[in-house]
Amino acid sequence: MRLKVLLIAMLFYYYNTCISQSNDKLYLLKPDRVFDGEQMHDGWQVLVKNNLIEAVGNSISNTTNATVIELKGCTLLPGLIEGHSHLFLHPYNETSWEDQVLRESDAERTARATVHAKETLFAGFTTVRDLGTEGMGYSDVGLKEAINKSIIPGPRILTSTKAIVATGSYAPKLKNEIDIPKGAAEADGEDALIKEVRNQIGKGADVIKLYADYRWGVNNEAEPTFTIDELKKAVEVANSSGRIVAAHATTAEGMRRATLAGVTTIEHGDDGTHEVFEMMKQKGIAYCPTLAATDAVAQYKGWKKGIDPEPESVINKRRSFSEALKAGVTICMGGDVGVFAHGDNAREMEMMVDYGMKPTDVLRSATSVNADVFKINNTVGRIKKGLYADILVVTGDPSANIHDIRNTKLVMKDGVIYLSK
Ligand SMILES: [Zn+2]
Repeated sequence: MRLKVLLIAMLFYYYNTCISQSNDKLYLLKPDRVFDGEQMHDGWQVLVKNNLIEAVGNSISNTTNATVIELKGCTLLPGLIEGHSHLFLHPYNETSWEDQVLRESDAERTARATVHAKETLFAGFTTVRDLGTEGMGYSDVGLKEAINKSIIPGPRILTSTKAIVATGSYAPKLKNEIDIPKGAAEADGEDALIKEVRNQIGKGADVIKLYADYRWGVNNEAEPTFTIDELKKAVEVANSSGRIVAAHATTAEGMRRATLAGVTTIEHGDDGTHEVFEMMKQKGIAYCPTLAATDAVAQYKGWKKGIDPEPESVINKRRSFSEALKAGVTICMGGDVGVFAHGDNAREMEMMVDYGMKPTDVLRSATSVNADVFKINNTVGRIKKGLYADILVVTGDPSANIHDIRNTKLVMKDGVIYLSK
């Protein structure tokens, strides 16, 4: 009797193993080279099993049932990570930021966001850190759910919902007698900040975005908003829930306060000085430069790139970026896409090279570095066994010519092929 039970159990096990093996979806990808998020490896192959990377290297065994995809002349990379997006915004030369926030309906903005999500994914960006819905409340959480339920194609999203600003500092503004909704949540003082950070966490924020300065100076120049103590408290509350903080800061003083408060990343940093970048380096705070946004806004204001001399804002951005490189600050890849067209995310990568970074370092920024800084490196950002099969294949070699990053040949997210040319 016991033997019979044992035999049945063995048969059952064997049957199940066979069934599970035959149901597994296997892909063997054979490019010329693999960028694993850190280094380039000639002749490597990648085996994908269901939604995970199963094996990587020169010789991979157990590939009998795999669908082989020959990718001659191609480079395989981890799906790219956009460090600073606004899926609920579209380029300001189409409609000004203020008109988008005040005049476009929630339905129109959501419809647009679904298109932006698709364009982002199809450009090879399989994850985005979306830093504020700009008047669309918690809609990024819903968009993320729609993508995760496969209702629409799109990247993985790290949400930040409304973002947080100091009262009086943010836009849009009409005449003083009319109170209108702002593009972010206002909160002041440690108690209100604690409450707002926790509220946004409860509503689904993965990241907390704070504005450490904004254009509210006497002559509308950028000036600090929150005090150091306010920033510190917000960071403490966010961090204790396991969430990172991104701080918008363009002034040296805003950056200094954000640094002392211990945020994870500083966005923009236009007026960053040698001293402040040294301080960021020392405290391990990463810099997300958004070069493409400055470039785009300058052109929207009439600058003819390649014809006119570079305007002050662009010269300043080149200067601050090279200061950051000199100081050895960790550089994230994030362009503030939404200010310019979604799907054109590679523009930031091209500009990072133009402004003095090595192509391979830019590829690291857009993959392993962003994954490490955003604390998502246990799931994405590298071509490594056990991580999600988020993969971009391009023709050519973007470590030699960064523009090749636009030559999308194949985009896979979570083991699903979304684009194949
Ligand atoms: Zn932004």
